[in-house]
Amino acid sequence: MSLSRTTREDSPKSWAIENSENLYRIEGWGQPYFSINAAGHVTVSPKGERGGSLDLFELVNALKLRNLGLPLLIRFSDILEDRIERLNACFAKAIARYNYPGAYKGVYPVKCNQQRHLLEDLVRFGKPHQFGLEAGSKPEMMIALALLDTPGALLICNGYKDREYIETAMLASRLGQTPLIVLEQIEEVQLCIEASRQLGIKPILGIRAKLSTQGVGRWGSSTGDRAKFGLTIPEIIQAVQELRDADLLGCLQLLHFHIGSQISAINVIKDAIQEASKIYVELAHLGADMKYLDVGGGLGVDYDGSQTNFYASKNYNMQNYANDIVAELKEACAEHNLPVPTLISESGRAIASHQSVLIFDVLGTSDVPSGAPEPPQEGESAIIRYLWETYQSINEENFQELYHDAAQFKEEAISRFNLGILRLTERARAERLYWACCEKILAITRKQEYVPDELEDLEKIMASIYYINLSVFQSAPDCWAIDQLFPIMPIHRLDEEPTRRAILADLTCDSDGKIDRFIDLRDVKSVLELHNLKPGEPYYLGMFLNGAYQEIMGNLHNLFGDTNAVHIQLTPKAYKIEHVVKGDTMTEVLGYVQYDSEDLIEQIRRLCEQALLDKRITIQESQRLLQNYEQSLSRYTYLSS
Ligand SMILES: *Cc1c(COP(=O)(O)O)cnc(C)c1O
Repeated sequence: MSLSRTTREDSPKSWAIENSENLYRIEGWGQPYFSINAAGHVTVSPKGERGGSLDLFELVNALKLRNLGLPLLIRFSDILEDRIERLNACFAKAIARYNYPGAYKGVYPVKCNQQRHLLEDLVRFGKPHQFGLEAGSKPEMMIALALLDTPGALLICNGYKDREYIETAMLASRLGQTPLIVLEQIEEVQLCIEASRQLGIKPILGIRAKLSTQGVGRWGSSTGDRAKFGLTIPEIIQAVQELRDADLLGCLQLLHFHIGSQISAINVIKDAIQEASKIYVELAHLGADMKYLDVGGGLGVDYDGSQTNFYASKNYNMQNYANDIVAELKEACAEHNLPVPTLISESGRAIASHQSVLIFDVLGTSDVPSGAPEPPQEGESAIIRYLWETYQSINEENFQELYHDAAQFKEEAISRFNLGILRLTERARAERLYWACCEKILAITRKQEYVPDELEDLEKIMASIYYINLSVFQSAPDCWAIDQLFPIMPIHRLDEEPTRRAILADLTCDSDGKIDRFIDLRDVKSVLELHNLKPGEPYYLGMFLNGAYQEIMGNLHNLFGDTNAVHIQLTPKAYKIEHVVKGDTMTEVLGYVQYDSEDLIEQIRRLCEQALLDKRITIQESQRLLQNYEQSLSRYTYLSS
């Protein structure tokens, strides 16, 4: 690769790797897994501080040689392992620090990423810590039951349950599993009582409480009396009564709560634990044989690296989180002379986000015209002269006022065009001059400390559009659905100044299929700094921290299917490709909507035959058409570069 050579020629201003680090905030969100090397490429250290790293750009090139085209999802199983180690280490440290006379036994919520290879890795990596699984539905419980083979690890059974779900979970204890059945609906109490009687099994039961502690942000409504899941306090009392009447109160051993995902503020977590620990103590006083407290999910990921309580960040770290849980429980139990519970957490996002990176290429760009415009010609409309004069007069004092003038003249040019007074070529000249004014004003505002509100959109208006070989709906649905922010940056040319400011437009023909919100230290940026494309050279972008929730929520909008995915594991000398999961072909995607590719080919063949008979097509043309059609069906749904 001759990138570093061309760099020197292209960017006269000096641009160091540190400039890219600051610009893309990679240290903030990427540590300890992602950084930039001297070649200006993103590197991955899948084992965190424990050593070994890979050049991501070179890895992508090597994978492309193995026919793994972009877009490509790369999973680093070592990162997954590191996340599990880290979470368990934080709880171990907190337990030691506070002399907590109990244990931590985490579980992974399957809904966060259900891919088989990932779950198999996770169960394996979790063995030393008796790390278990949490199922949020019947199908997830079926997976968890089959996959979890760690003695002593917990199988938390959440979600809506029918009799079959409950019986299966109870019988799982006969297979050596430790299923904990969490009562989420008051009706489930009787179902459990009946199943227990019939099977003669004393299950471990839990209660999911609706806390009054209100989460904040996107999932704030996951708690409170009107939350979708869990029992209200009166219902908890009713459940205790029903279990006591059935002589099963001893089975009630767990209290569970979940206050929503991506909790940005530590005080919300503290409040919830405080409330839950009080309920826990009371349940023990009511006669339940309390042994477990499950704090649910919510442990946040710092997507923008700002360490704040902004929704894309969090103002605490994993150790603070563990400390608060351990300390609060120890105190609450000591106060009432109760043995402390085994602590359970159900962190999904914090475990699965970092392990995958989505790599995609840029297909092309489009810009508003830039550069110096032509002065007005003899005989051109007065409006063009006004715009020219405005353009010429713009300076640091008057830019705000002249921005309004330019906008007004452009509006006027359009109304004159609509009245038939202005010709199309003149309208083009007027619009060109307007863009030139905007460009000049934007250059001034970028140097200002304070940008007037009305000029804030200028950056967006003047942004380049980078067309990306990706479907946001398939690969980053939360960007579209809930305005989630993921760090996005080029994975190479980072020793070169990115001189363009761009928004990203995806392959779908949906105007929502774009990304125009990017992480920033303060709030959100509306444009992303990117490099000029070089003819004949690919330009790769990476989307990071997207290993949680995106894959399964992705949809087939415009029939773009699953991307290629590959599992990479670090070896002492290099890396090995553990699994390759080929993305959908067109035949597969069309099958989801009930088209049979053989039928489709047959239909095209028939049309070709008729066209040949009618002499509307030559035999060569029809051959070419059929060949393209058949080939496309067996190929990737994305564009090949
Ligand atoms: C979704 C969910 C989780 C996972 O939450 P994260 O914020 O991703 O850790 C845990 N528990 C329950 C009950 C959930 O519904």
